[in-house]
Amino acid sequence: MSVLAAERKVAIQAVLQASKVCQSVFKNLVSGETITKNDKSPVTVADFSAQAVVNTYLGEHFPEDPIVGEEDSKDLRDDAGKALREKVLELTNGVFSESEKLSEDKLLEAIDRGNYAGGATGRHWALDPIDGTKGFLRGGQYAVCLALIVDGEVQLGVMGCPNLPVDASKPDGPRGSLFIAVKGQGAFQRAFSDTNETPIKFSDINSTQQATFCESVESGHSSHSDSAQIAQLLGITREPVRMDSQAKYCSISRGDADIYLRLPTSATYVEKIWDHASGSLLVTEAGGAISDVNGNKLDFSVGRTLAKNKGVIASNASIHEQVLKAVQTVLSKKQ
Ligand code: AMP
Ligand code: MG
Repeated sequence: MSVLAAERKVAIQAVLQASKVCQSVFKNLVSGETITKNDKSPVTVADFSAQAVVNTYLGEHFPEDPIVGEEDSKDLRDDAGKALREKVLELTNGVFSESEKLSEDKLLEAIDRGNYAGGATGRHWALDPIDGTKGFLRGGQYAVCLALIVDGEVQLGVMGCPNLPVDASKPDGPRGSLFIAVKGQGAFQRAFSDTNETPIKFSDINSTQQATFCESVESGHSSHSDSAQIAQLLGITREPVRMDSQAKYCSISRGDADIYLRLPTSATYVEKIWDHASGSLLVTEAGGAISDVNGNKLDFSVGRTLAKNKGVIASNASIHEQVLKAVQTVLSKKQ
């Protein structure tokens, strides 16, 4: 059996089931128009349920492994959280068989299994139960992202993108794509509905003029004005692809676009490990390169955040140095 085969299998099952929970919440609560535009409750319900589902699978198969998860159960515990708790319980139990169904206590316990502080030694998982909550609410891109970190290095990453077309050349074709990477074993994609996996890799462009870059829809998450200047320096003429969530990592890793820029919007924001762990491994296993805006390797060994890094640049390996230089030129002018 190959290295981490059991972890890979469980992570796929967990991410797929959590993705299905999110899809069903969207179908029943968001597109059913039972909420107003600014009502965040569906995403909250889906977020907690997805974390409960993944953490339950991990707890069952790898009980010794701690988890760094984005959510905790605080808002579900008191009286004010009763309705939310009941909804989350119903959704979570929807994916389990009769004998596996959780009690309320077990549900809260499962969610709080995600409270680990992270660090440099041993194994831990990093989970973003729904990355791209704005994308989720607008029917755009969002992702369930799970990674296994061992001694500070990401070894396994699985990402579920319910709304990402399986084939980028057929944007109106089937959606629901799963991405899988294990260190040293390559990067793969499969459809939610099909267990066959296909290897993926970056496009083979070798000049920045041919490149397309992608960035967050939200300029508050990555500076659009800086990226426009960087694109100009690199001779990029194609319009940027703006997409919510870590689906951006998946897109570049299968060659739909070539560069993902996440440019700091403030001096104080620190990136979270669950926002980049699985995506960073997918990039390198698909033949790409990734660093922060200073050219440093992303350091997943310092806790729940990437406290030693600033921003993220992921790209086709052959142009990474050039992209990094352009980023530094533009950012240095601001200081
Ligand atoms: P995206 O979908 O690419 O816009 O990224 C969504 C992620 O942005 C969320 O998971 C947040 O963790 C993260 N985020 C929130 N605020 C900021 C910020 N000020 N700068 C960068 N990322 C942020
Ligand atoms: Mg996130």
